Amino acid sequence: MQFIDLAAQYQELKSKIDARIQNVLDHGQYIMGPEVKELEQKLASYVGVKHAITCANGTDALSLALMALDVRPGDAVFCPTFTFFASAETIAFAGATPVFVESNEDTFNICPLDLEKRIKAVIAEGKLNPKVIMAVDLFGLPADYPALTTLAKKYDLKIIEDAAQGFGGEINGKRAGSFADIATTSFFPAKPLGCYGDGGALFTDNDEYAALIESLRVHGKGKDKYDNVRIGMNSRLDTIQAAILLEKLAAFPQELINRNKAAEKYNLELASKHKIPMVPNGYLSSWAQYTIQVEDRDSVMQEYKAKDIPTMIYYGTCMHLQTAFKDLGYQRGDFPIAEKLANSVLSLPMHGYLCRD
Ligand SMILES: *Cc1c(COP(=O)(O)O)cnc(C)c1O
Repeated sequence: MQFIDLAAQYQELKSKIDARIQNVLDHGQYIMGPEVKELEQKLASYVGVKHAITCANGTDALSLALMALDVRPGDAVFCPTFTFFASAETIAFAGATPVFVESNEDTFNICPLDLEKRIKAVIAEGKLNPKVIMAVDLFGLPADYPALTTLAKKYDLKIIEDAAQGFGGEINGKRAGSFADIATTSFFPAKPLGCYGDGGALFTDNDEYAALIESLRVHGKGKDKYDNVRIGMNSRLDTIQAAILLEKLAAFPQELINRNKAAEKYNLELASKHKIPMVPNGYLSSWAQYTIQVEDRDSVMQEYKAKDIPTMIYYGTCMHLQTAFKDLGYQRGDFPIAEKLANSVLSLPMHGYLCRD
């Protein structure tokens, strides 16, 4: 059994994907070819935002979002400690200071109550300028944007939605990627919408941010790429990856239904044995991961292994305990819930071809 069965998906979409790739080989516009624009339009319409701007990967997407919001040394960016490294890494890469926040035990997402405490503490200390909340739609479930938006207004902060795992998720019919000033996603092959290499995108309704991001992703271009008006980066989505994504995006709505069916079946099977993931009322998860919390993780993993069911640990180390962030001065025990999650979570196989019919 596969943890994520990319081969089953390719078998299903093979003739369409192959034709799309061949088409790119025939026209030869490997960088910024017509498929890139077509994909950006389709992504924007799926997510329900004015602008979708593709880039090289989900990590660059976060860096571009931070650059567009002018995040710089001396700024505080609040982000969950229980997440993938890239969320926090890009904050430090921008020269700003990540301020870690506790998680909600049931949803795995950033805890708005703890967030407000940490914002107040930064203000009281007076050393850093509170600037951005970077929320993460962990395992496919959108973070609590209604609460986060209230806090952002109260403390004059911007929000970045890291929807690398959240693409396809919803709150009351509104889709992930549309909840923040700028949202980002990743098309890494294992994500809910993945390509066959690296890829990423940003989403925004704000024309000014969109224009800035378009410039930043091509060397801070002005009129063209040889007129450079700001320091940017080289971060574009390959045309071949855009071509592949066009077919995968067309198949995505059905895959999302299949993922939710698979999650339902897991819920029925596992609710009496382990703590199953909670999806609040009105929310839809894209199930980037189906993650349970278990008592004796090693032995549960062994049991699954004996049945040829692969399992993974996302994530075994919180950001505040990562070696790369040791200079920030956090200690074990600073985030008891996130640390408990890191010690008890276990993810089971999940993809769009696990449950179909
Ligand atoms: C995968 C991921 C990223 C980074 O995406 P890449 O395309 O691998 O650079 C960022 N944040 C989260 C939460 C992720 O899961």
